[in-house]
Amino acid sequence: MRRVLIVGAGQCGLQLALSLLAEGYDVTVMSARTPEEIRDGWPTSTQGMFGLALQSERDYGLNIWEDRVPHIEALHVALSAPPGEKALDIIAPVDQHAESTDQRVKMSGWLELVEQRGGTVIIYQGVTTSDLDGLAALGRYDLTIVAAGRGELGGLFDRNASRSPYTTPQRGLAVAYVHGLAPDPLLPRTNVGFNAIPGFGELFVIPALTLSGPCDILFWEAVPAGPLDLWQERLDPPDHLKRTLELIRQYVPWVYERCANVELTDARATLSGRFVPTVRHPVGELPSGGAGAGRRGRGDRQRPDHRPGQQQRGEMRAGLSARHSQPR
Ligand SMILES: Cc1cc2nc3c(=O)[nH]c(=O)nc-3n(C[C@H](O)[C@H](O)[C@H](O)COP(=O)(O)OP(=O)(O)OC[C@H]3O[C@@H](n4cnc5c(N)ncnc54)[C@H](O)[C@@H]3O)c2cc1C
Repeated sequence: MRRVLIVGAGQCGLQLALSLLAEGYDVTVMSARTPEEIRDGWPTSTQGMFGLALQSERDYGLNIWEDRVPHIEALHVALSAPPGEKALDIIAPVDQHAESTDQRVKMSGWLELVEQRGGTVIIYQGVTTSDLDGLAALGRYDLTIVAAGRGELGGLFDRNASRSPYTTPQRGLAVAYVHGLAPDPLLPRTNVGFNAIPGFGELFVIPALTLSGPCDILFWEAVPAGPLDLWQERLDPPDHLKRTLELIRQYVPWVYERCANVELTDARATLSGRFVPTVRHPVGELPSGGAGAGRRGRGDRQRPDHRPGQQQRGEMRAGLSARHSQPR
């Protein structure tokens, strides 16, 4: 049975791990956090997914929240021009419904599912490049896949300049998960609100499933240095919500009318940051050099408490980089 090591327990790493398990591979996942730590942590995304992407999860029985997550049936686009005055509404039904399941719910659940479905999970905070070097030298895995988002390991994969047109962040991002948002009076069907304020940024309103049940996500995308870009410093969640609502009142008053009873879903229901959209080359080279696909080798299955040693220098090529970065 072919052995695959996946470093990183996000959408990329865990969906791949569970799909490979279903196809009969021997899969080990190295996660920086336990399921409890993921559940107790901060949101990491707004994670809206459309029909094709959801189907690829259904194909492997990964859609375990599908009966609880709101089914998004339409987009409601509104133009705020001049800022604060609505110029037009466009309502666009989607062919297949979309969903957004809080990654705290999904990744903690999927990490548990990996073990339930026969995979091995190693909790290892912060796998380093030299750890990977050591693992490659052991020759236990036929393929090592790095799916660790941003961070030191991303440096293994060179930036693909021809596919990375930006060198600076294009938006400041600010996310708040809330309960209590009143329904959209113009469109009773569950919808994602996309409110564009030309030159300033956008407000997305995304129905989602979080730890405490169905909710909405208020997501500002601010043009850097513009009037909405008040998110350079990370605010305490209550202050973050206050600022979110104040900007909504000013620039998107038709959404503000729905916000009278809005409150955060939990004590860590916010996220802010910015990053440079970057596409990286998919194959990385370890400091010890070497080329070729993951080395084939003999070896025992790793026990969950195994910590990779700094063994002899080896060679390996990681099979995939996760090219997305997460702000904190
Ligand atoms: C604000 C925001 C909104 C977004 N909205 C959407 C959306 O609506 N729809 C959409 O499709 N996408 C959206 N995205 C993008 C989407 O969230 C990412 O594309 C996706 O989460 C990337 O998944 P990943 O598994 O590659 O990386 P990540 O989600 O970053 O997961 C990487 C994992 O690896 C772990 N890790 C990192 N370094 C190490 C290490 N050294 N050792 C061990 N583990 C490590 C991390 O802890 C994490 O668990 C959004 C992103 C942001 C920031």
